[in-house]
Amino acid sequence: MLYIAGRWVFPHGDGVIAVENPAAEAVIGSVPQGSAVDVDRAALAARDAFLDWARTPWPRRQELLRSIAAALRESGEKTARTITSELGMPFDACLAVQALEPASILEAYADEMDGIAWEHDIGWSRIVMEPVGVVGAITPWNYPLYQIACKVGGALAAGCTVVLKPSELTPLNAYALIEAAEKAGLPPGVLNLITGHGSEAGEALVRHPGIDAISFTGSTVTGRRVAELASVTLKRVSMELGGKSASIVLEGADLDRAVAGTIRSCFRNSGQSCSSHTRFLIPRRLEGRIMSIISGRAGEVQLGDPAAHGNHLGPLVSGIQRERVTRYIREALASGATLVVGGADPPTGFERGYYVQPTVIVSLDPNAQIAQEEVFGPVLCVIPYDDVADAVRIANGTPYGLSAGVWSATPEEGFEVARLLRAGEVQLNGAPFNIRSPFGGFGLSGYGRELGRYGIEEFLAPKAIHQSFADLSHADSPVIA
Ligand code: NDP
Repeated sequence: MLYIAGRWVFPHGDGVIAVENPAAEAVIGSVPQGSAVDVDRAALAARDAFLDWARTPWPRRQELLRSIAAALRESGEKTARTITSELGMPFDACLAVQALEPASILEAYADEMDGIAWEHDIGWSRIVMEPVGVVGAITPWNYPLYQIACKVGGALAAGCTVVLKPSELTPLNAYALIEAAEKAGLPPGVLNLITGHGSEAGEALVRHPGIDAISFTGSTVTGRRVAELASVTLKRVSMELGGKSASIVLEGADLDRAVAGTIRSCFRNSGQSCSSHTRFLIPRRLEGRIMSIISGRAGEVQLGDPAAHGNHLGPLVSGIQRERVTRYIREALASGATLVVGGADPPTGFERGYYVQPTVIVSLDPNAQIAQEEVFGPVLCVIPYDDVADAVRIANGTPYGLSAGVWSATPEEGFEVARLLRAGEVQLNGAPFNIRSPFGGFGLSGYGRELGRYGIEEFLAPKAIHQSFADLSHADSPVIA
């Protein structure tokens, strides 16, 4: 079913999309294949609900966001099981990152609403922050509910209404959010759900004249298409796209921690994370020592059944994704890169499921395909550098600019390098991710920011109300020479 104007409704057509468990290679459910007609109904419902929601006092919106978060927490285990079965991420990590973190994101948005200057004065003008309107939110499969929370949370906080189109590969978790919103008492039409293909439902959303803004997370190729289509109706667009992020270890840093942290970042969610540190930049002088630590650490990474407890890696999301990732490995090795661990062959003991061996490759050429393109699988590319200037040049030498890591002996050294990196975020010595800080990229990684205050402001536009001098007190009146 689709969710439009606060009701579960049948789609216009009768097409369905099967949802597969990538570990079992078995169909576990299906969702409607929403069409342009369904998108139109949802966009009209969101538009109808817009003015009331925009005028709802923000403390009430804040309260509702907190209630949705509470409902998401309550259903966290069930949601984690759903995401484990549609995405293949092992349950323990899934519960923390994919099911509960979205609740934390909504809570963080609610908290940050206190710090927004909803109204302020500039001279005789009152500046009122207005929601940008009806938002079309289009999300990918790799952190499905997390990405939804990033968009929906910021938009609802700002006073926008939303039509959500989740990925066709992992759409089931989106229902958990709708159920939480219903439980919290979100007014009808404020949040609408259309499942379907990007080429049909996604494009209809981007083209729709009743949608004011598009918040998109996905691949750079699709992002380009979305930006192009959105330009026809001059929609405001934000883009969270791919990455090829570097982790730089400086001489003097704790090498064990740097290797462990970089491998963790790269292989998290089986390498299917936009902000993974997939290029490991190491000082050439320390290559031998670092490579032996890498071989040991990477060799310890285990694959396993996503439904089981533990910190193993699951399969990739689909057969297409597995084919793409193993092709990258094969091509890298054929063009001169060296294999350290793993490889393109199917891992032993995993005849069923889209598993790929955790792989480490050394590329002496920072411009090689494996060192430049987003692989989106468990593949770490090690690149030696000569000096810090060389490391910074290599780190900044891709068209992306999403994330980076620096491992240094002192925080000052780390900061100095971090300031030179063209990336939306930099983690010093393995610092944890902060859901209250802005997230987004430079270059082909996109534009716009999500999370925290910046993630709300993305959906706000200032309106200036100029006040008559006669109505202003003497103190506020401009001095006219
Ligand atoms: P896609 O770009 O293929 O799809 C993303 C979403 O866009 C899906 O919902 C998809 O629908 C939809 N879509 C596809 N074509 C169109 C279209 N023509 N018009 C409108 N919508 C469309 O990305 P993936 O789902 O494969 O996600 C992986 C990518 O996302 C990676 O490149 C990754 O780096 C990036 N990503 C970026 C993040 C960031 O914050 N920077 C975070 C997470 C992922 P459908 O259901 O048909 O696939």
